[in-house]
Amino acid sequence: MESRITGVMVYYYFVCKRKLWYFCHGLNMEGEHENVLLGKILDERSYQRDDKHINIDNIINIDFIREHRELHEVKKSRAIEEAGIWQVKYYLYYLKERGVNDLKARIDYPLLKQTLAVELANKDEEELEIVLNDILEIRNREIPPRFETVKMCKNCAYHDLCLI
Ligand code: SF4
Repeated sequence: MESRITGVMVYYYFVCKRKLWYFCHGLNMEGEHENVLLGKILDERSYQRDDKHINIDNIINIDFIREHRELHEVKKSRAIEEAGIWQVKYYLYYLKERGVNDLKARIDYPLLKQTLAVELANKDEEELEIVLNDILEIRNREIPPRFETVKMCKNCAYHDLCLI
């Protein structure tokens, strides 16, 4: 079982808590899914010229533009924008906790040619502490949260599993 809280876990928390549970318990089907493949291709091809991909403690896996002290997360659509925003806020929070302050962050949507600035407010930090505790609680459950159809089900890699 994944012991640390990664950015993907925060993302899934806001997308679907059942999906989060699957992921925490090693049921990682994302690798085969077309949408995820597209995401990976975007990750590799977008912004190649000025980005440096960094991985911190296997928690944060993100592009960093040194010149602007700016983190960049790439998403293909704004469909679950809130989840992406919280994922990036978590990165800022995680780094701040480790003494890295004054970073800026953006979510880039290359397919839409749009970008969104993300900041970490004091109240976000309080909210994140609740979210992180909640993630640990969900991860430690013996069985996944109940299946409830959500907007993202039709594009979810776990869809077949949920319908068994
Ligand atoms: S199919 Fe729907 S309920 Fe099941 S994990 Fe995916 S998003 Fe969650």
